[in-house]
Amino acid sequence: MWVYVLPEGAFGFSGLRLLQIGCLCLLFILGGVIWWFSRLSRRLQSEIGIRKKVEQALLQSNKELASLSITDPLTGVNNRRGFFEKSNVALSQAWREDTNVSLLMLDLDNFKRINDQYGHPAGDETLRQLALILDQQKREHDVVGRVGGEEFAILLVGSDREHASNFSERILQRVRQLRIQVQDTQTQFGFTVSIGVAEVKDSLDDAWRLADTALYHAKDMGRDTIKVADW
Ligand code: GH3
Ligand code: MG
Ligand code: MG
Repeated sequence: MWVYVLPEGAFGFSGLRLLQIGCLCLLFILGGVIWWFSRLSRRLQSEIGIRKKVEQALLQSNKELASLSITDPLTGVNNRRGFFEKSNVALSQAWREDTNVSLLMLDLDNFKRINDQYGHPAGDETLRQLALILDQQKREHDVVGRVGGEEFAILLVGSDREHASNFSERILQRVRQLRIQVQDTQTQFGFTVSIGVAEVKDSLDDAWRLADTALYHAKDMGRDTIKVADW
């Protein structure tokens, strides 16, 4: 009778050989696991990178939207909402520091005539040029806004009645010197503005009413002039 005897351990492998093969298998499995994890981690990292970029783009577009919602698209200065938002912030700061603040309300004189005579685009250009002058004249903490069709407001921080009055005079002079070129023609024209001035004492609303009344008086006085509200 034949009896088959494995010459060296099971399946013809010695114990040492079996251990070696087992270790090799283990190494192979371990390598696979490490490779799988590193692939997963790479994927996760790239996913995180993409998410960060999307997040940044969202933040940026939110910022742009917020800025657009307070900006006048024609002139690039604050719109009415932006003017009030920024003025209230500036005012709180000024009151904390016990600083004088003045409010100017400015209205283009006979603007309807400019539109009628030179056309709406020339009227738009007039508004843009006026906003540019105001923006150039204002100081860092002052706030400029287009608060109506052809009405602008300026909050002057660190400014008493005398300073506000001098500032307004400078604006009148700069505006008088300006010439607007009518597109595709040789025609140029000038324009003037009227300004109402009030010191901001108790609230922006009170100062608004005073400056508005002063502006009305400036118009009544013949336009191209300033009127400082009595307080
Ligand atoms: P006053 O000196 O009394 O202020 O007279 P005015 O003609 O300036 O004032 P009025 O209120 O009679 O006319 C304002 C004009 O402003 C009428 C309107 O068509 C014009 N306007 C308002 N917004 C715009 C704008 O965005 N572009 C242009 N081109 N015109 C505008
Ligand atoms: Mg007006
Ligand atoms: Mg006007």
